[in-house]
Amino acid sequence: MRLVLLGAPGAGKGTQAALIKEHHGLAHVSTGDIFRENLKNKTPLGLEAKKYMDAGQLVPDETVMKMVGEKLSEFKPDEGFMLDGFPRTVAQAEFLETQTKLDGVILFNISDEEIVKRLSSRAVCKDCGNVTSRLINDKCPSCGGELYTRDDDNEETIRSRLKVFHEQTEPLINFYRDRGLLLEVDAGHGQKPEKVFELVLKLLSHD
Ligand code: AMP
Repeated sequence: MRLVLLGAPGAGKGTQAALIKEHHGLAHVSTGDIFRENLKNKTPLGLEAKKYMDAGQLVPDETVMKMVGEKLSEFKPDEGFMLDGFPRTVAQAEFLETQTKLDGVILFNISDEEIVKRLSSRAVCKDCGNVTSRLINDKCPSCGGELYTRDDDNEETIRSRLKVFHEQTEPLINFYRDRGLLLEVDAGHGQKPEKVFELVLKLLSHD
C-alpha cells in the first residue's frame, strides 16, 4: 500500500504515521524529518532547508523533488510506504505521479485555532522522537526522555506555515479528490490520537 498523509502542520500526520507503521508495517517517509536530520548533520541540504523552515516557508520544489525522487528509488516495486509532508504543492503532486501509483490520500481535517493551540504546546522527545504536549507531560511519556520544542513551533512561524498550507497545499485536496483517491478523517475536536487512528483503520479497510 502506498499512501499520502495530507493535512495542515500539527494535524497529527506524524503521530498517525507512527501508528499506521506499527499496524500495517508501512515505511514512513517524512520530508520534514529528512530535513531536520540533514540539519542536525549540517549537510548542505540541511543548511539550505533551514532558511525556509525557520521562516515557515516551503523549501523550493526542485530541492524537495530531487530528495524525494532519490528516497523513493530505494523502494522495490512491491514495497509500501506512507509519505508525510509530501507533496505540499501541485508541482510536487504532479512529480509524484511520475514516480509511483498511490492507493489513497488520507486528509486530516482540523481547524486553524486548534492547530495554533496544539503546536504552541507541542514537544518532541530528544531520545525517541515521540510527540506530546507540554500541557500533559514534562517528560516523554513513552521513554522518560527530555522534551524539546521545534524551532518552527513558535506562534509567528506557525501562522506563516498555516498560510502556506492554505495557499499552496490546500489545492491538493481537489487534485486528489478528482482522482478518486481522497479519504477524509476528522482529526480535530479534541479527539485523542487513538480515536483518530480508529477512523483511519476504518477508512483503510474500506479501501
Ligand atoms: P514538517 O515537519 O512536515 O512540518 O516540515 C517542516 C518544514 O520542512 C516545513 O515547514 C518546510 O519548510 C519544510 N518541508 C517539509 N516538507 C516539505 C515539502 N514537501 N515541500 C517544501 N518544504 C517542505
